[in-house]
Formats: sequence, structure tokens, C-alpha cells
Amino acid sequence: MTNKEKTITNSHGADTPFRVLQTDNYDDSLFLRQKSTDIDVKNIAENKDWQHFIERLKLTLAVESGVGIAAPQVGVARNLFLFIRIDRANKAVQVAINPRIVNYSDETFCFEGDGCLSIPDLAGSTKRHKWIDVEYYNEKGDFIKERLYGASREGDFTGVIFQHEFDHLSGILFTDRLFDCAASLHRSK
Ligand SMILES: [Zn+2]
Repeated sequence: MTNKEKTITNSHGADTPFRVLQTDNYDDSLFLRQKSTDIDVKNIAENKDWQHFIERLKLTLAVESGVGIAAPQVGVARNLFLFIRIDRANKAVQVAINPRIVNYSDETFCFEGDGCLSIPDLAGSTKRHKWIDVEYYNEKGDFIKERLYGASREGDFTGVIFQHEFDHLSGILFTDRLFDCAASLHRSK
């Protein structure tokens, strides 16, 4: 972790959430467009700074009532995000470090009501893959490889959360992927 990242991380204890950067703030909006970099996952389980960061990020996600949040959204341009396992009964929070999307369905669908904790008062439809094959490390440093699904708003959309959060690491926001679902249906006829 850089000194600047340590300052942000250790500014408060585990009971204080981070401030979430907002696109209607000029400096924040520029930061959100940055590309994030990988984290050294060797001994990550024993790294007090990263563990404290993850703890505070989990709290931030909870108080913001989100389904996912990426490190750059709290001012740390690193390849790390959280996503809720809505594909599991316990709806656990999953930590994804240095994530990759290694394969995806050609078939896409229109995900209605995409939204972002960094973009106030806006929701829209985005075009998303129906499944993705992903690889990442968790907070213990375990390497995880799995297929995530998500082809509907009503059912499982874990794969969509992953796609949304993954985009943040490249400075891409859901508003870059807005999609006219009705027009797409019309065109496919
Ligand atoms: Zn977002």
C-alpha cells in the first residue's frame, strides 16, 4: 500500500465507513476515471492495512445499502471490489482482489435499473453478458475460479454486479454502457 492509501485506510477505525466519491464532484469524477493497479496478494491475510481497508469497505457497502463497491469509489485506485453473493442463500459479501474476466457468453441481455453508489439519483438499463468466467483472490489470498450467472433483475444477477464493479477498475461507469432495451428488441425482429 502506498502512503496515501495508508492515510485514507487508517484515517478512522473499523466502525467508520469511507466517503464514497461522487460524479457530481469534479475531483471525484476525475479520480473515478482512473485505471486501477493490482495488489500484491502475497501475505495479504497478514497485511493489517489491507485487512482494515476491506473491513471499512464492507461497512461502507452496508451503510450505503449497495450490492457492490469498488476500491476506487473510496479513493484507492486498486484492483479490489466487493460484491454480494445473491447467488447464495446467505447473501455473503465476496471480496475480489486482482479480478479478471477470462471468458463470457456471447449472448447479452438488457439489465434494467443499473445504478451506482457514485452516481446520485440515476438508474438506467445496461447491456450485460449472461454469464462470465472469472478469476480473483479473496482476502485470505485464496485463488478462486468460477462462473457467475445473472440474466435477470428478478433472479440471480451476481454476474452483473461483477461486471459493473470490474468496470470501475478501468474507470468505466454504467452510464458508459446505457442501452436502449426497447430499440434492441425492435431491431432483433
Ligand atoms: Zn458503481
